[in-house]
Amino acid sequence: MIIDGKKTAAELREELKKKVAELKSTHNAVPGLTVILVGEDPASKIYVKNKEKFAKEIGMNSEVIRYPANVEEKVVLNKIKELNEDKKISGILVQLPLPKHIDKRKVIETILPGKDVDGFHPVNVGNLSSGYDSSIPCTPLGCYLLLKKVEKNLNGKHAVVIGRSNLNGKPMTQLLLKENCTVTITHSKTKDLKAECNRADIIIAAVGRPKLVKGNWVKKGAIVIDVGINKTDSGIVGDVDFDEVSKVAKAVTPVPGGVGPMTIACLLSNTIECFKKLN
Ligand code: NAP
Repeated sequence: MIIDGKKTAAELREELKKKVAELKSTHNAVPGLTVILVGEDPASKIYVKNKEKFAKEIGMNSEVIRYPANVEEKVVLNKIKELNEDKKISGILVQLPLPKHIDKRKVIETILPGKDVDGFHPVNVGNLSSGYDSSIPCTPLGCYLLLKKVEKNLNGKHAVVIGRSNLNGKPMTQLLLKENCTVTITHSKTKDLKAECNRADIIIAAVGRPKLVKGNWVKKGAIVIDVGINKTDSGIVGDVDFDEVSKVAKAVTPVPGGVGPMTIACLLSNTIECFKKLN
């Protein structure tokens, strides 16, 4: 089975569009997402454009604040403080990566946890790992929703997460633990990654290494979720060798068209959740 992230994301956006319309009639207001973009990183510009497009499409207010790459850190921090106070704004996202002279940690910690639609603020990270209500980082949330589409009951499954980033691997691990999976988290110092993967019912690959996960790494019937986006001479590929793995796995996400489209849909969902809590 090829897990169609594009279709699932479109379905989710349809649901969210209805939710926004409902909120408009009950609250006489709609959620508002503000994205701050610093500099001219081409990939970031595309991501931000898509975020704005889809937010508008489902009826949300959406705004992008753009700064040149040499903007002073305090200008960005002051803007975030202003947005924190603005009742029309339910979600604030600062597009990463930031130029080196801007402290990413300071930026993330300045966003009000209740408006942190990326789920990167330490309060949200702590709440997620304590099993409390929190904003959940969008990409792992998208992976989780795709996984649940294939397998409703994850109880007792052995999941191997490849990568331990704050963005993907760590929050993904928390979501899998919440579902009662037994989780092995692996990284660049893991001794025998193939052997770890061979034991997995579920593999989440969030590495950034083209086609790292081979067909003979995957147990027959496993579910494989590929987070990777790698530019190669032959185009964009994931962290999973799709041609090989799709022959042994029960289900696998393609790249592109798998996890990617879910990330923005989950961002919109997080913005709606923040709106509800703030109101
Ligand atoms: P990251 O911060 O660079 O983390 C990569 C992780 O992979 C690290 O934990 C690293 O281990 C581990 N790793 C590197 N080489 C390895 C190897 N050979 N074997 C095992 N583990 C290895 O990356 P990220 O931000 O999580 O992103 C991962 C991938 O997802 C990238 O391709 C990125 O473009 C993609 N991505 C996709 C989406 C989407 O919407 N689909 C969103 C975000 C990111 P150490 O900790 O030991 O260094």
